[in-house]
Amino acid sequence: MPAVAATAAIPPAAGRGGADAAALQVLHEVFGFPAFRGTQQAIVGQVAAGGDALVLMPTGAGKSLCYQVPAILRHRAGRGATVVVSPLIALMHDQVGALAELGVAAAFLNSTLDGDEARRVERDLLAGRLVLLYAAPERVLTPRFLAMLDSLDERGKLALFAIDEAHCVSQWGHDFRAEYLGLSALHERYPEVPRIALTATADAHTRADIVERLALHDARRFVSSFDRPNIRYTIVEKTDPKAQLLRFLRDEHDGDAGIVYCQSRRKVEETAEWLSAQGVSALPYHAGLDTTTRRRNQDRFLREEGLVMVATIAFGMGIDKPDVRFVAHLDLPKNIEGYYQETGRAGRDGLPADAWMAYGLADVVNQRRMIDDSEADETFKRLQRGKLDALLALAEAHGCRRVRLLAYFGEPSGPCGNCDNCLQPPATWDATEAARKALSCIYRFRQHGDSGFGAGHLVDVLRGKTTDKVRQHGHERLSTFGIGADVSEAQWRGVLRQLIALGHVYAEGEWHTLALADSARAVLRGEVRLELRVPSDARRGAGNARRAGKAGKADKAPPLPLDDAAAARFAALKAWRAEAARAHNVPAYVVFHDATLAEMARARPATLDALAGISGVGSKKLDAYGEAILQVLAG
Ligand code: ADP
Ligand code: ZN
Repeated sequence: MPAVAATAAIPPAAGRGGADAAALQVLHEVFGFPAFRGTQQAIVGQVAAGGDALVLMPTGAGKSLCYQVPAILRHRAGRGATVVVSPLIALMHDQVGALAELGVAAAFLNSTLDGDEARRVERDLLAGRLVLLYAAPERVLTPRFLAMLDSLDERGKLALFAIDEAHCVSQWGHDFRAEYLGLSALHERYPEVPRIALTATADAHTRADIVERLALHDARRFVSSFDRPNIRYTIVEKTDPKAQLLRFLRDEHDGDAGIVYCQSRRKVEETAEWLSAQGVSALPYHAGLDTTTRRRNQDRFLREEGLVMVATIAFGMGIDKPDVRFVAHLDLPKNIEGYYQETGRAGRDGLPADAWMAYGLADVVNQRRMIDDSEADETFKRLQRGKLDALLALAEAHGCRRVRLLAYFGEPSGPCGNCDNCLQPPATWDATEAARKALSCIYRFRQHGDSGFGAGHLVDVLRGKTTDKVRQHGHERLSTFGIGADVSEAQWRGVLRQLIALGHVYAEGEWHTLALADSARAVLRGEVRLELRVPSDARRGAGNARRAGKAGKADKAPPLPLDDAAAARFAALKAWRAEAARAHNVPAYVVFHDATLAEMARARPATLDALAGISGVGSKKLDAYGEAILQVLAG
């Protein structure tokens, strides 16, 4: 990918008509989009006019435009370059490549450039040829970089600072980066230069940290709705995770690109291998792989169609691939922020996408233990436990998942109609009695003089199974032996999961032996009512109804319902796009999104003018590709 994008001169803005009109003009002409989304226009107005902004917007909602449009406007107004601080190299490469396709002069400075390339970028920057320069925080704070900024600033050629992934400045966030703390220096050194800080995940605590640490007290805040309506949330109980995943992939995402998150490196490798053996094109990604392999796998994921990336959370930040059709979690994330950020990587293009997670008893136990065993201080642990609890409540919820997710981010909403619980309201059962039985059985174990037992044995005793272990410990003589034979094993696991999730029971030691927390007393006394989901295993066949439902396979790619002739044109356009992407050495979606191609196939424009009217076709792309597209459409 070229470090410096095409330096094609951008014509001056349309003059009259006010700031809004100028911004719209850039949106139409450069990006080819008909309208701003949500709060974008207000943000662009604030920043282009030289004000500061703090932007909270969910992943995929369109943060980049919020600084790219002001950057172009301010550059056109003779105010020089925008410096974008971003933590990840992949994001810089992606964005600079995409901007090149749009004819916007952008570049990045990072460790992937050799000395000559870096010096060329620096020369371009100082000469005012760049609209946007991307750099990592540690680079921005070097004396060499600051000297360049000084030189620009003296000449009034420092247009804007954009601080992406601003939550990295907060220790309470989940991606803390110490280098971000130094960024307040930018404001101290260049108080006149406007700043825009952007993040997709920030609870109240993190938000306050961003304002404090980046000295954004006077910035206007723009908080968008966190809803991602095109993402369907599904959380299933883990029974046979690999088989469940495979069924999900085959039934709903055959041939789609997606990400499967696992907690450990080993599990990533195992899962990727296993999926490949099952005929799914899957690649591994985790921090333990060497740089070359990691980069190659990531590049393939971005450039090829229909690859599944099996990864730890080391993968994904700054990945802007718009056509990720699903994000699957085989393990429970740490908290809702993480879950929402990871699942938010699905469906950036606005087309239907899935967030699917399998979760079980072991997840609850593991996550609790990881917090307990960590070196952190008590305050931090308490905070982490609170966050985990919120995620567990989401997983166990029988109401709308989205309502809970949005409530977590402080946003009230109503049932969404596009999550598993809305589409297939789960049956519930009154598990109060069962919970009491389980607790008293755990209690009896201890009373009996034993050190405690794990979940498997507990369920055996409750169900009255005479296993070797039961005999060995004389547990068939316990008063609780067989008192729960009428409750299925899956249901018992659900009861235990819930009791652990609610903190009434905890698992200790290497063997995860169960013990009662103080709060268990209230449950034993019958003061706490427990209403549980009937395990999905007992509701087999649920998936079929859903596939037949309104947002099933039919409205996947191609994104719009196309008749046969249009579908053939769509296929021809995709083939053409693959060629063009290869020729320009960029991912296919950088040339045009699926949605744009589908709209071309449907509307079948016959002239360049008509083609320019399609969303996603800006003037540079019209020049570069217009004739070729008309030919494909005419063919
Ligand atoms: P974020 O950084 O918030 O995750 P992006 O900036 O990557 O989101 O934008 C997500 C997608 O939405 C991109 O593919 C972008 O081109 C598209 N997009 C953003 N704003 C608009 C708009 N006003 N009209 C049409 N598409 C848009
Ligand atoms: Zn819902």
